Amino acid sequence: MSASTAFRFDNTYARDLEGLYALWQPEAVPSPSLLYLNAPMAMELGLDPQVLESPEGVAILAGNAVPGGAQPLAQAYAGHQFGHFSRQLGDGRALLLGELIDQAGRRRDVAFKGSGRTPFSRGGDGKAAVGPMLREALLGEAMRALGIPTTQALAVVATGEPVRRERPLPGAVLTRIAASHLRVGTFEFVSSRGDGQTLQRLADYAIARHDPDLIDGPDRYLTLLQRVAARQAELIARWMNVGFIHGVMNTDNMTISGETIDYGPCAFMEAYDPEAVFSSIDEGGRYAYGNQPAIARWNLARLAESLLPLIVADPSEAAVQAGVAQATEVIDSFPALYEAALWRGQRAKLGLTTQGADTDAADAALLQDWYHLLQQHTVDFTLAWRRLADAAEGQTEPLRRLFAEPQAVDAWLARWQQRCAQEGGVAGTVRAAAMRQVNPWVIARNHRVEEALTAATEQGDLDPFDRLMDALQRPFDETPENTAYGEPAPAAVTACYRTF
Ligand code: AMP
Ligand code: MG
Ligand code: MG
Repeated sequence: MSASTAFRFDNTYARDLEGLYALWQPEAVPSPSLLYLNAPMAMELGLDPQVLESPEGVAILAGNAVPGGAQPLAQAYAGHQFGHFSRQLGDGRALLLGELIDQAGRRRDVAFKGSGRTPFSRGGDGKAAVGPMLREALLGEAMRALGIPTTQALAVVATGEPVRRERPLPGAVLTRIAASHLRVGTFEFVSSRGDGQTLQRLADYAIARHDPDLIDGPDRYLTLLQRVAARQAELIARWMNVGFIHGVMNTDNMTISGETIDYGPCAFMEAYDPEAVFSSIDEGGRYAYGNQPAIARWNLARLAESLLPLIVADPSEAAVQAGVAQATEVIDSFPALYEAALWRGQRAKLGLTTQGADTDAADAALLQDWYHLLQQHTVDFTLAWRRLADAAEGQTEPLRRLFAEPQAVDAWLARWQQRCAQEGGVAGTVRAAAMRQVNPWVIARNHRVEEALTAATEQGDLDPFDRLMDALQRPFDETPENTAYGEPAPAAVTACYRTF
């Protein structure tokens, strides 16, 4: 099998959504070299990793050769960025190569990031640097291994060409795999142009792709809104339960599929703090850890507005009012959807299996007090949960030691132990094991990510990257090999950490 014929593309976006893209070609790069290949992902897609690693395969992953059947295109979209609407964004440094049906029968987008200027580049150079692309590969794998829906990197290729940032940096092209690249901003793009026919085509396309059981159904556009809200509620709850801060939740970075997309300035929180922000561009803290659920709801309201012309049955005032009321009801249901998803996760993190009218309010208070303690004593979020699992088997010292004054957690611990005891019959070891399945030991800690990227970009040394990638594959295992990856950075390093 040659690399050029290995991809069996079937490009529905290009076929069905004319007007929502510009056909375009990737820019050639001088000397491509493969930095990362996600071999399991290649196999999932029915691609042979050895073929992709060959010079012919690397030429494709660099954008120097376009494989047979690909129809590279830049997608058009709009978006609210930090609350402000831009009616024209689009793939300024990305291209959709095409879609593949994977081994499990799922349709997956294959897209480049950093493949050169497009008609939507505005002032940008269309390029990407090695560091941020390796970062996206690491974070995507970290999320996947944690069981969180996400786009994933198939490959990162260094281009052999510098990109101009504050200082020259080595350039790279990332190949991204996604359930689709449809975003809230795609709907905003069409809706803001008042093109009802294209809007319906887009919505029907999204339904065919992500909610095929709704095809031709009555109220399908309202139901699509509900589905997206449900997927986002689940997604954001999962982020919150691992301390993930996306960093740039603009509407163009929120998918219809419910996958996490666009690992720019994201980071995992260290010490618990609802106001935690790492992104250098998020000066107002709009996308702080604790704001993420509210922002998701705000973004969904923008989707609801965009879909409204389809939700409203006819232009009569009564129908418009009814449509607005229905859409509003969906948006208003988001907090409850989110809370339910959050609680499923938090109950498991606490090691609890039962719920009910007699325990729910007390459990909520228990959890709130736990978070209060972590915040007050600046305790590492991930470690605290992990050490709580040890406490389930009677080892309370590891948790106590996370507090500068260990006795600060004692009263809370006693309450939690009492609550666990209410669920009679569960052995401590069993509870601890279950808790270790949901409370990770390894997350993509900022200092580890930085260390890996610095070695790769400044010394051309990929060993730290490979080792970190390896540790991230097994986030719930605490083994001698990954001990170091679970440890937080010295507080001084964490305090001034910024992402870009
Ligand atoms: P992001 O904040 O990364 O989601 O990007 C927002 C918008 O800026 C999108 O339309 C991107 O395609 C565009 N963009 C980001 N970086 C570049 C770049 N280096 N060149 C051209 N467009 C870019
Ligand atoms: Mg984006
Ligand atoms: Mg970005």
